[in-house]
Amino acid sequence: MNYVSTRGQVEPLEFQQAVMMGLADDGGLLIPEHIPDVRDRLDAWGALDYPALAGAVLRLFTTDMPADDLDRLIEASYGETFEPDVAPVVRVGELFVLELWHGPTMSFKDVALQLLGNLFEYILARGGGRMNILGATSGDTGSAAICGARGRDGIDIFMMHPAGRVSPIQARQMTTVLDDNVHNIAVEGSFDDCQRIMKTLAGDLDFKRRYALGAVNSVNWARVLAQIVYYFKAAFDVQRATGAERVRVCVPTGNFGNILAAWYAVQMGAPISRLILATNENDILARFFNTGQYALGSVHETLAPAMDIQVASNFERYLYYKLDGDDRRLQARMAEFSRTGSLMVEPERPGGGPDPLFEAGAATRDDILAAIRRCHDQYGYLIDPHTACGYSVVTSLVPAGVGEAGGPDDTEPTVVVATAHPAKFPDAIREATGADIARHPQIDALADKPTRCVTLDNDIEAVRKFIIDTVG
Ligand SMILES: *Cc1c(COP(=O)(O)O)cnc(C)c1O
Repeated sequence: MNYVSTRGQVEPLEFQQAVMMGLADDGGLLIPEHIPDVRDRLDAWGALDYPALAGAVLRLFTTDMPADDLDRLIEASYGETFEPDVAPVVRVGELFVLELWHGPTMSFKDVALQLLGNLFEYILARGGGRMNILGATSGDTGSAAICGARGRDGIDIFMMHPAGRVSPIQARQMTTVLDDNVHNIAVEGSFDDCQRIMKTLAGDLDFKRRYALGAVNSVNWARVLAQIVYYFKAAFDVQRATGAERVRVCVPTGNFGNILAAWYAVQMGAPISRLILATNENDILARFFNTGQYALGSVHETLAPAMDIQVASNFERYLYYKLDGDDRRLQARMAEFSRTGSLMVEPERPGGGPDPLFEAGAATRDDILAAIRRCHDQYGYLIDPHTACGYSVVTSLVPAGVGEAGGPDDTEPTVVVATAHPAKFPDAIREATGADIARHPQIDALADKPTRCVTLDNDIEAVRKFIIDTVG
């Protein structure tokens, strides 16, 4: 399998090269040259456990890796790091919930970042090189990426977060990791400032090559790839539980990374009839799937901070397919978007959205609190504020599908993706339920641990100098 850039200016790459490149050198995103169709093997796949299914999916996209090596990396990533399982599905009333928070830092980001850490180490060991991961985080990516990279040979990780603007728990999940190769940077600025510094340094191709900069945010194809697996797994589990032929999947989203993996699973032939996209008040994606217009708003701070994003970096991958894989049209649209803050994809039907596969909605602050409270009162099941966006959107949708492609589907079971453990967001849980019930021993234990973190000015050159001085 080869990888190409959405902007068409990068020579085709093999998988391992694509993982190391992260953001495509032409400023686009790397995508597989074609999407495999697996409809002929769904029955066989349905019988596999998580590691075996991961092997079956990943093998199709990692043709430059020996199968034994891939299996070893999967075993190292998923064998013992998730308790009791990587992606269990539980029943909550009429709905199913796909719990993706059983990893070491308790968000879905662990599923991809455990694998990515192992992949980086494997590729470096064979090529004899070193790399420096540079990341920016508003919360969960940082701790999951640090956990995936800590103590690994050949890797240093530099993780920027906005000083004083991530939750105390999220900050401690990062800064209590004291391995020599982990460098936490608190930037005196906002998350957008951190992301701008990261993009500027990664876009300086001389610097990127000299310091072997790698990416752990969801522009890295390996992250999307790892996430495809659990959509197959969830669909199979719900099929087994209900006898339904197809299922609907609801994904709370910010950067369009997690739901893009679901989209790839659908294209490959996963038994999923519909994708329900849920945002918080930063609703650019929900508006897009309802109107066809992708138009920038201003960023709101919400109870679901990992989704406080306006420009969804992975949207470019989706848009590329929507424009029939025409990199020139894509470049023109992206240029239009940078110039005007808006772009349009024609709806397929008058008054409809641009893609009948999707439904979309947004949750307000009150919706989030009400969803947490309702789910807890009715079912004794606690959801975090990100998952609550999905829960709120799903439970408020009018029965879907009448007259849409694929026909009425409101009798099909729905899976809501749970993206984080509620104990990561105790304040929102307390506000919703009136009680301090979101606890986890692992989170409580953070309070007494020593921390390490440098604070730097909101300045690209300060971060560049810190990297140079640290790695020599
Ligand atoms: C990162 C994150 C999201 C958003 O995921 P995307 O891939 O950016 O759509 C949602 N919930 C939680 C808890 C997260 O950490």
